[in-house]
Amino acid sequence: MKPTTISVKNNEFDKSTNVTFRDSAFYGRTGLTNVTIPDSVTSIGNHTFDGCTGLANVSIPNSVTSIGYYAFFKCTGLTNVTIPNSVTSIRDGTFYGCTGLTNIIIPDSVTSIGYYAFDGCTGLTNVTIPNSVTSIRDGAFYGCTGLTNIIIPDSVTSIGNHAFDGCTGLTEVYTNNLYLHIDAFRIKVMRKNGLLTKYNGEGEIHECYICYTNFKKNDDILILECFHTHAFHDMCIEKIKDSCPICRRPIGYSTTNLNIKYMPIIL
Ligand SMILES: [Zn+2]
Ligand SMILES: [Zn+2]
Repeated sequence: MKPTTISVKNNEFDKSTNVTFRDSAFYGRTGLTNVTIPDSVTSIGNHTFDGCTGLANVSIPNSVTSIGYYAFFKCTGLTNVTIPNSVTSIRDGTFYGCTGLTNIIIPDSVTSIGYYAFDGCTGLTNVTIPNSVTSIRDGAFYGCTGLTNIIIPDSVTSIGNHAFDGCTGLTEVYTNNLYLHIDAFRIKVMRKNGLLTKYNGEGEIHECYICYTNFKKNDDILILECFHTHAFHDMCIEKIKDSCPICRRPIGYSTTNLNIKYMPIIL
């Protein structure tokens, strides 16, 4: 049977078989609050609930195998949504700007998380990425300021730029492949590139060229990337923003303040 478009009357769906939501079916219907999608529905179209700011609860049955792009775009009131394990991807912008979402469970049927899928979901504090996911696209969790930690499972082989950019609350990342994912974590709070170490009283380094005092054993010193003797008290270099006080080469910044942890190997 050819898929038909579902109709909605007083938030009740007509029962019909093999239905597909046409694109933008409920675009901007701010009065919608709770939606129970019947199990006759097999797909949710692009932008279906785009701008339904009053929508709080959505129950999606596992007859649904695809959820379209931007389906819940800026549903700011959305607090509860269950993604069924019949869905294999979270598409681009699906939950973009859903600021009311605090928790999302991505089922282990999902293999990819699309571009900007959860961009601006500032209320999200807990996300579990299952080890079925192989790709996380650019900006997928951009600006999710409520996230404090994230586990990147080993199944993830590609992760886009800025996927976790602007996640200013993120302090712990669990991954086994930091270098694969480094561009994903360009967090705004960054640290100067260099080796932060304790002065051991040996070698060519003796004096801090910012405060002009000799280093003492166990002082915290930062050796910049530019040259192995361009070392300063960590507290002195902290105030310097742009370039090395000795050679004037620009100071690079990295995400090393982020606590990157390698996942324990479970045998
Ligand atoms: Zn100093
Ligand atoms: Zn230098």
